Amino acid sequence: MGGYNGTILRINLTEGTVKREETDKELAKRYLGGRGLASKMLTDEIDPNVDPLSPDNKLIFATGPLSGTPTPTGGRYMVVTKAPLTGTIGSSNSGGYWGAELKFAGYDAIVFEGKSEKPVYINIVDDEVEIKDASSLWGKLVSETTEALEEIHGEKAKVAVIGPAGERLSKMAAVMNDRGRAAGRSGVGAVMGSKNLKAIVVKGSSKVPIADEAKLKEVFARCMTKIKENGVTGQGLPAYGTAVLVNIINENGVFPTNNFQESAFGEAEEISGETLAEKYLKKKDPCYRCPIGCGRYCEVDEIKGQGPEYETIWAFGSDCGVSNLPDIIRANYWCNEYGLDTISAGATIAAAMELYQKGLITDNDLGDGPKLEWGNSAAIVEWTKRMGAVEGFGAKMAEGSYRLCDSYGVPELSMTVKKQEMPAYDPRGIQGQGVSYATSNRGGCHVRGYMISPEILGLPEKLDRFTLEGKAEWTKIFQDFTAAIDSSGLCLFTSFAMGADDYADMVNAVCGTDYSGTDFIEMGERIWNMEKMFNLAAGIDSSQDTLPKRLLDDAIEEGPSKGWVNKLDEMLPQYYSTRGWDEKGVPTKEKLEALNV
Ligand code: SF4
Repeated sequence: MGGYNGTILRINLTEGTVKREETDKELAKRYLGGRGLASKMLTDEIDPNVDPLSPDNKLIFATGPLSGTPTPTGGRYMVVTKAPLTGTIGSSNSGGYWGAELKFAGYDAIVFEGKSEKPVYINIVDDEVEIKDASSLWGKLVSETTEALEEIHGEKAKVAVIGPAGERLSKMAAVMNDRGRAAGRSGVGAVMGSKNLKAIVVKGSSKVPIADEAKLKEVFARCMTKIKENGVTGQGLPAYGTAVLVNIINENGVFPTNNFQESAFGEAEEISGETLAEKYLKKKDPCYRCPIGCGRYCEVDEIKGQGPEYETIWAFGSDCGVSNLPDIIRANYWCNEYGLDTISAGATIAAAMELYQKGLITDNDLGDGPKLEWGNSAAIVEWTKRMGAVEGFGAKMAEGSYRLCDSYGVPELSMTVKKQEMPAYDPRGIQGQGVSYATSNRGGCHVRGYMISPEILGLPEKLDRFTLEGKAEWTKIFQDFTAAIDSSGLCLFTSFAMGADDYADMVNAVCGTDYSGTDFIEMGERIWNMEKMFNLAAGIDSSQDTLPKRLLDDAIEEGPSKGWVNKLDEMLPQYYSTRGWDEKGVPTKEKLEALNV
C-alpha cells in the first residue's frame, strides 16, 4: 500500500523506551491517517475521563498518507490528545516541513505515553531514535530552542517544540514547528509540557512509496489547474494571505469587535491583508510543496517572523479594539516565541478587556501591567508575554477566557464553545457557522466546518447567510469533508478549489486504493462520529452544543447584519436528525453500525 511507511513509533517517557509497531492497515482503510487514525488510536487506548495533563493521557503526532508526497500542500500533520482546554478530544493541525520530514524518516505517527522524570527531547534520524536530555533547553523560547537544536543536529533537521507556555501548562499552549508554524488549538502544547517533552527533532532520507506514479501525475496536473484558476487559492490567498478576509468579513458586518459586543470595526482597513502586504510583508512563506503560499513573513523594527494570520489579526485587533498593526505583529511574534495559540490568546485578552470595562478586573489585579482598555495596543503585546511566561496575572489569563471569566462569576462573557475561544466570524450574521461552532467536537473552531465558504465566499455555491433552511445539512457535509481532508495530509485550503473526487483520486493514486468521492466524505463522517463518542464518554453531551448567550439573545445593533441573533435552537434539531443521531445529539446504534465506527 503506497502512502504509508507502515511503522508507528511508540515512545514511553516514563520507562524511557522506544518501540516500533506496524501501522494497522485495516484502521488506515477506515480512518485514513492524520486526525482520523490518531483519534481512533487515542479513543481505543485511553480512558476518556483521564486528566489531560496526567501521564495517563497520550499525545499522538500523526501524518496522513499524502504527507511527504509530491501532492499540492502535502506536508501537514496532526497532534491528537485529550485536550486540556476543553476536556474534549483534541486535534490540532500544522503545516511547515516537520510532518513531511517525519514521513521521510520512515514513520506514519509517534505515540507518546507516560511522563519523563526530567526534561527530554527526541532525536530521530531515520532508524535511529534517541531520548535525550533537554535540561539546558527548558525555559527557552521557541526560536532559541530551535536554533540550539539545529546547531547540534544540523540545519536540515526539522524541529517541533513547545515554548515556556507549554512547559508551564498554559491551557492555550501550542506545539510549534519550523519556528512559526503552530498546532495551535486545544492546548496540545500543555500536554507535551506535562510529559516533560521539550522537542522532537526529525531528519529523514527515504521517499514515501507511491502506488501509481502515472495516475498521480495526471491527478496532480488537474488539481493544480483548479488551484491556480480558483479566485481564493489562485489570487486572494497568494497575494494577501488569510488576512485577505479582514475587509470582506468586516464589510458583511460579521467581524467581531470588542469581544463580540459589536460586529464591525471602523478601522478594519488599517489591519487588513492589503495594508499588511503594503507595509510589513517581507516575503511569502509557503509550507512544503504548497502552490498557494498563504503564509506571511513580516518585519516590524526589531521583530521579524512568520504570520500573522487573519484570525490572529482579528483576535489581537478588532476583538481588542486595536488598529495598531505593528503591535498586532508583535503580539503574534510573542505567541510564536512562547508557544501560545494566537486565537485563544487574543480572545482571552479581549475577554479580560470586557471584564476590566465592567470593573470586575481592577488596576490592583494588573499590578504593573498595562491597563486592559479597548484599543490599548501596548496591552496586547505585554499581556501576551505575561500569558506566555505564565506569570502574575498573566498566569490567570493563561488558563483561557472561560476560566478567567468564570473566576469572576461571569462565564457568559467568555466567547467560547466548550471552553475554546471562537474565531473571527460572528455567527449572528452567518447562521450556518453558528451550528458549525456549536457542534464542533473540539470546541469553538472555524476549521472544523468552514461555513464561511458557502455563506460568505460563495464556494462551492452561494448560500444566503441569514437563511436557516439547509444549513444543518451543509454543516454536516463541511464537517465530514474537513475531517477526511485533515486525515489525508493535505491543507484544508485546497478545498476552496478541489472537490471530494479530487481528494479521493489523489489518495487512490498514492495509496493504490479505490475510494470514490462519496467514500472519502463517508470516512470523514465515521471520524466525526467516533470523535463524538469520545466526547460523550468524557461527559461532554449536547448541553455543550451551544453558543455564548450574547450571540443567541443580543441582536447585532449596527451594520449589514443589524437585528440578527443566531437561531441555533431552530437548526440544532435538524442537525442531529441529519446526522442520524437521536434528539439528544447521541449517535444511534444503527448509525454507528452503518459507519463501522
Ligand atoms: S495554503 Fe497556506 S497553510 Fe496551507 S499549506 Fe499552503 S502556505 Fe501552508
